[in-house]
Amino acid sequence: MNNSIRKSNKKGRIFVVSAPSGAGKTTLCQTLLKRFPEISYSISHTTREPRKKEIDGEDYFFITTKDFEEKIKQSFWVEFAKVHVNYYGTSREYLEKQADQGFSVLLEVDIKGAKQIKKIYPDAVTIFIMAPSFEVLEERLRQRATDSEDIINIRLDNARGEIEQKDLFDYVVINDELTEACERLCEIVKGIF
Ligand code: 5GP
Repeated sequence: MNNSIRKSNKKGRIFVVSAPSGAGKTTLCQTLLKRFPEISYSISHTTREPRKKEIDGEDYFFITTKDFEEKIKQSFWVEFAKVHVNYYGTSREYLEKQADQGFSVLLEVDIKGAKQIKKIYPDAVTIFIMAPSFEVLEERLRQRATDSEDIINIRLDNARGEIEQKDLFDYVVINDELTEACERLCEIVKGIF
């Protein structure tokens, strides 16, 4: 990204988006990034296997559990969590560099990650995305057909716990109708940015 576009005289902000699997977070975040090209996306590291079509270094940095745990010892992560059965984490160096240079960043992390970021960066704007109901969430996860039945059940169990914590977030967006949810998300960002 060209830095002159990214600076655009605005104060850099950290936007944190969390959602249970299947809430439509990735599509919403992609729209947000297209609408606000000055916001960069923090590519997380994970120990989970790449899904079909996922590209290393674009969707995630896919690393081994051994590497991940080594990096915990080295304080490489500004936040990390075990989500479902795998580790996910955000590079401290990347985020600090963006913050130091006044650039805005979007993080897509789970609730544990969102809490850690808010503690370190109280100015971070946290947004929780929800499906309109638990039944819709379940249906979306099954339609996606990217995960085994066991994994879907783990994701659904985790989703229950996450939805209970939605009030910890600065904003909640209900993704019932995608276009409307995109507009709502973009309005939130525009109002702050
Ligand atoms: P998925 O495996 O479906 O891509 O992601 C599973 C969960 O991990 C999602 O809730 C996603 O937001 C979360 N996640 C992705 N990257 C990170 C990260 O860097 N840190 C944390 N804490 N969670 C992450």
